[in-house]
Amino acid sequence: MSLTTTVVGSFVRTLRCVSCKKEFDVKKLIYTCEKCGEKLDVVYDYDAIGRTLRKTDLEDRRGTACLKYHELLPIFDNKKVPTLGEGGTPLIQCRRLGEGLGLRELYGKDETRNPTGVFKDRATIMASNKALEFDRKVVAIASTGNAAASMAAHAAKAGLRCIVFVPVTTPMGKLSQSISYGAKVIQVKGNYDQAYDLANEACKAFDWYNCNPATNPFRTEGKKTTAYELCEQFNWQPPDWVIVPIGNGCNLAGVWKGFKEFYQLGFISKKPRMVGIQPTGSSPLVTAYKKNSTSFEPVTPKTLAGALAVGKPRNYIKAMNSLRESNGIAESVTDDEILEAESMLASKEGIFAEPGGAAPVAGMIKLIGTGVIDRHDKICCVITGNGLKDPEAALRKGLRPTLIEPTLEALRPIASNIS
Ligand SMILES: *Cc1c(COP(=O)(O)O)cnc(C)c1O
Repeated sequence: MSLTTTVVGSFVRTLRCVSCKKEFDVKKLIYTCEKCGEKLDVVYDYDAIGRTLRKTDLEDRRGTACLKYHELLPIFDNKKVPTLGEGGTPLIQCRRLGEGLGLRELYGKDETRNPTGVFKDRATIMASNKALEFDRKVVAIASTGNAAASMAAHAAKAGLRCIVFVPVTTPMGKLSQSISYGAKVIQVKGNYDQAYDLANEACKAFDWYNCNPATNPFRTEGKKTTAYELCEQFNWQPPDWVIVPIGNGCNLAGVWKGFKEFYQLGFISKKPRMVGIQPTGSSPLVTAYKKNSTSFEPVTPKTLAGALAVGKPRNYIKAMNSLRESNGIAESVTDDEILEAESMLASKEGIFAEPGGAAPVAGMIKLIGTGVIDRHDKICCVITGNGLKDPEAALRKGLRPTLIEPTLEALRPIASNIS
């Protein structure tokens, strides 16, 4: 597989504010709406895409990871995009886990296999490519750890200088990735939400290219490719439910947009219902959704699922629209439920996820229990991040190795207890 993909043309028409609907030139370097300050959505010419792109074209483009969907991505010129091979992750039928829960069809989209171990690589490739298109030399992002590591890797590949802002609580696995990829790592004495605001301010003050999730309108576009892949992997019959974790809500919004687009293009005839999961200690979006509120109350996050420790979901409007449009559900799960799901996923399916990545499984178990999701439904959990990024979290369940003298005698009583 070639790690550089040449792309041609672009079907992007405009950037449109998710709130006041004002439109902006997509070639202009702009982040949020100049009128009302809200986030921007990338709008395409679907009629033109429909005239050019066939399902069979996609089936023919095997092996080029997520950039194979370039007609539906905001990539403007024929310049080579420096890619690490984002996406193209396997869909895994979770038979043992599913059978244990009495489920008929349970699947996991294993995003832990992305280049830096997280689905965010799909978004980062959009941001790093845009930085090159806009001829920017320095990129910056705030992150609970994963977006930073991903940005740092892609900046390395693209020859960009990368500044990342992370909270002090960032786990060592994620931190060491960013440092190794050569980013300037700024540790902020505060939480993610404070790091996020500082990164926004820094980008303005020092003229760095702003890759903050939600603020950068292009990142979310990359996440659509998860949905495209699922459509193909399910042989154009998407599941009844697609379950994702929510931090800022970019993933939820991106995946839903992808399904909508393939539906509009006539590639699928049915859209899944989306489920968004947050930890109870950081669930502003779930609370707002259950109250049917149009705005959320920021919280101070308290959860061991670091990737979901977001007190102000920055893609709130897009995420809420995704839940409403898909007749979806938002649910919260406790840290204990998350750890239990992480352990089940690893020990029954061989997929080692970080807590945030296992949260959809915890949510699925809860919604099966309450009867919201039927055991006969086709269910897909998006396993967003790799367990190696936060190995200490996995050990919080208390499991430890058994330490012995290097003799058979010492082993014998243990062996007799192994069934
Ligand atoms: C960032 C992240 C999330 C949350 O995604 P959002 O797009 O911020 O909602 C979930 N899981 C993992 C592993 C992440 O790194």
